[in-house]
Amino acid sequence: MISVKIIGGGLAGCEAAWQIAKRKVPVEIYEMRPIVMTPVHRTGYLAELVCSNSFKSKEITNASGLLKEEMRILDSLLLKVAEETQVPAGTALAVDREMFSKRVEEILSQNPYVNIIREEIKDIPKEGIVIIATGPLTSPDFSRKLQDILDAEFLYFYDAVSPIVSADSLNFDKLYFASRYGKGEEGYLNAPLNEEEYKRFVDELVKAEIVESHFEGEEKFFEGCLPIEVMAKRGIDTLRFGPMRPVGLPDPRTGKEPYAVVQLRPENKYKTLYSLVGFQTRLRWLEQKRVFRLIPGLERAEFVRYGVMHRNTYFYAPKFLEPTLQFKKDRRIFFAGQIIGVEGYMESASTGIVAGINAYRLIKGKPLIIFPEDTMIGALLSYISSPISINNYQPMNANFGLLTPLNKPIKDKRLKHEIMAKRALESLYDIIKRFNI
Ligand SMILES: Cc1cc2nc3c(=O)[nH]c(=O)nc-3n(C[C@H](O)[C@H](O)[C@H](O)COP(=O)(O)OP(=O)(O)OC[C@H]3O[C@@H](n4cnc5c(N)ncnc54)[C@H](O)[C@@H]3O)c2cc1C
Repeated sequence: MISVKIIGGGLAGCEAAWQIAKRKVPVEIYEMRPIVMTPVHRTGYLAELVCSNSFKSKEITNASGLLKEEMRILDSLLLKVAEETQVPAGTALAVDREMFSKRVEEILSQNPYVNIIREEIKDIPKEGIVIIATGPLTSPDFSRKLQDILDAEFLYFYDAVSPIVSADSLNFDKLYFASRYGKGEEGYLNAPLNEEEYKRFVDELVKAEIVESHFEGEEKFFEGCLPIEVMAKRGIDTLRFGPMRPVGLPDPRTGKEPYAVVQLRPENKYKTLYSLVGFQTRLRWLEQKRVFRLIPGLERAEFVRYGVMHRNTYFYAPKFLEPTLQFKKDRRIFFAGQIIGVEGYMESASTGIVAGINAYRLIKGKPLIIFPEDTMIGALLSYISSPISINNYQPMNANFGLLTPLNKPIKDKRLKHEIMAKRALESLYDIIKRFNI
């Protein structure tokens, strides 16, 4: 039987493979790791999480929560595994990163319809049905081939990774467990700073040395993921109203909200590792040690992974892709994942589900599915495939602003999201039924 070739065994590639294999069509996943590594991945496992271990909110009134609910309805492999390997993180879904990737790989490698081939693909396959899901760190040789078929219309931007510290190097006498506003489990560890400590910290942060990038255009940071030192340079209070905001996090020892707070999130099931939430950075490693150790409780912190700066590759999808994720110039090729200009683990994975379903339907001669714009998945795909000026094309997270507006405007944000979420799920069930997905 004809098999589908998937290039890239990351988040999108694994979801696509699962959707095809579960429908009993053979699939080959070509993954270059561990033979050829990217600058960021650290293992050879499929579906490795390169930075945070969080898949964000579980609540469907949150855009990310709604996206996950839609993915669950579409039988997402990654969500199933995430639930199996989760670690406490309040109202967010966070996982033990190593258990997560190992388990995804285990499930796929045990599936009789899946063949995992460890090889770097350097050219676009000339025949057969292909899903390209090589991600933001697509190998340079393959990027060059993509530039040929995409008329060299690539865009680049930069992302940053937060540092991770070991739990046993922290001074727990100075820290406290709490989730913001007491919502969900008390998964976060909090480091409170008084005014003097905060000002000294910001002062040192803005003076600290950064790593110079080897890439051009590094100023084009993704606004939603600014390096901590760039935020600090925008004003003395910027961090206090951003990643270090203390609201909803009273210190149980004083009963009061501190002047500022650094939140630490468990990175593994055993809570032996914690990441500094929102502390993505370009500081030199020694500078990270010096400056981040000024945070109370982190004076002797051991950094098991430093924050680093990375290039992120994506292309101007509206010119090239249908909302089915088919490549307009050659309809046997699909694209999925971050490379198409979605931003985030679940956003990338959800497009893998769509590419997988549609690749299967193409083989079977069934009509391809365009997910409705009142669903979060459909809205994301509409964004990446709708005409928009090349200068305004920014990678996009799931958000309610992308969904078809309600007929009657509703002021109360929570109520509005509740209604939109309900509508999205009804719409998704409807399309599943109509197309027998
Ligand atoms: C540094 C960095 C940090 C990020 N942090 C976060 C975060 O904290 N939270 C979040 O939600 N999102 C984050 N993202 C964004 C994004 O969600 C992830 O990059 C996500 O992994 C993208 O999924 P993907 O499937 O598109 O790509 P990937 O998961 O990267 O999968 C692509 C796969 O293709 C393989 N590959 C590449 N080229 C070839 C080739 N030529 N042949 C064969 N295999 C190939 C790669 O090895 C990789 O396994 C981050 C991105 C970057 C770059």
